[in-house]
Amino acid sequence: MASAAVLWFGENMSAVPLRSSKTVASAARSVTVLGATGSIGDSTMDLLRASPDRYQVEALTANSNVAALAKLAREFDARFAAIADPNLLEDLQDALAGTGTECGAGESAVIEAASRPADWVMAAVSGAAGLKPALAAVDRGATVALANKECLVCAGDFFMQRAAKAGACILPADSEHNALFQALGSGNREELIRVIITASGGPFRTWASADIEQATLAQALKHPNWSMGQKITIDSASMMNKGLEVIEASYLFALKPDEIDVLVHPQSIVHGMVEFSDRSVVAQLGVPDMRIPIAHCLGWPDRIVGPSAKLDLAKIGQLTFEVPDFKRFPGLRLAYDALRTGNGATAVYNAANEVAVAAFIAGKIRFGAIAGLVEATLEDWMRSGNQAPLTSADDAIVVDHIARNKAATLLPQIAAKAS
Ligand code: NDP
Repeated sequence: MASAAVLWFGENMSAVPLRSSKTVASAARSVTVLGATGSIGDSTMDLLRASPDRYQVEALTANSNVAALAKLAREFDARFAAIADPNLLEDLQDALAGTGTECGAGESAVIEAASRPADWVMAAVSGAAGLKPALAAVDRGATVALANKECLVCAGDFFMQRAAKAGACILPADSEHNALFQALGSGNREELIRVIITASGGPFRTWASADIEQATLAQALKHPNWSMGQKITIDSASMMNKGLEVIEASYLFALKPDEIDVLVHPQSIVHGMVEFSDRSVVAQLGVPDMRIPIAHCLGWPDRIVGPSAKLDLAKIGQLTFEVPDFKRFPGLRLAYDALRTGNGATAVYNAANEVAVAAFIAGKIRFGAIAGLVEATLEDWMRSGNQAPLTSADDAIVVDHIARNKAATLLPQIAAKAS
């Protein structure tokens, strides 16, 4: 386990460690993976699989995929397995009969999984459902590798303050934020000018607006570089994902919107950069493989041996960068607007986007209407005068629900407008 670390950026944001003295882990590290059956969960389990003696799995969770959860629980001899769907308890118990793994079901069981005494927790539940379990891990002062963006996008200030108060250590698992985390250690807050997160540009990087408007689900799911879950892949195509990441970076590292730039970098080799006052720019590079940032979180404050491919820059030959086009990708502009507005606007942005993406997947709206629905929901929320600081998970969940309902109400007119 890491000893107390030197903390990054002042009182409210002291949960992300900046530098720490190196420690050598002796006993097996106990770990919990929330969202073990997803794409991030899969990469995490792969890393654990590579060093079975180094880790003891405390708890694993999933939403409804009993078979995959039970398979992992058996393989890793997990102490506890939780399925979020309350109707699946018996199925999980049957699938784990004869093992020593305790079973639980429902949201409370997922929270229990996070509350159990693991040193290190991967928070990789997708969507706003990840907030309460991540908070449960944070509240007991765990080291939390945070993949779930929604914790920060929906409740960033509150989440980071609570982590700081509990002495939890938040390690950014998202590749861009992990890159910033690694680069930020080269200077201090006063020396920082800006951070730059890169974006692949997704499958529609070179497309005209009219073609993006009509893009199909199959086209949106063809990410050029990364292999990820469906929702985040669509968010990459709309650049909403980059918008979410700008918001995430702001809360994680206590940065103002103007201190965060985005650069389109189609090769996805440079993941993030930090510019300091002497004009040094420190970057983190690696092949596009989520196991690299996850391995950094798993080993932190040391480094473990990772299974990812070696970066061969000579073979890649060229690294290119472009300014993002806010006109063709309005979702990115909306993220900056929401961040500047604050007081729940980023939660509205996220909720409306989730409704829009689900509607796009269901064939109810065109791709181009995703940003339209988010914008209309944000405008409605601004008119409502409901803006106020979020001070609890329940506050964030209320704003999330209101925004989802509003987005669902606005959906038919946005669908009609776009067709
Ligand atoms: P996936 O959809 O692949 O997996 C989501 C996981 O969460 C699954 O284990 C799923 O269980 C579980 N889950 C879904 N809904 C619920 C719920 N209501 N309650 C409890 N568990 C639930 O997502 P990803 O792994 O792609 O992403 C996870 C998070 O990490 C997201 O916030 C994403 O934005 C972020 N992220 C992902 C990256 C990637 O490369 N994939 C990169 C950076 C960040 P089940 O399998 O049973 O459905």
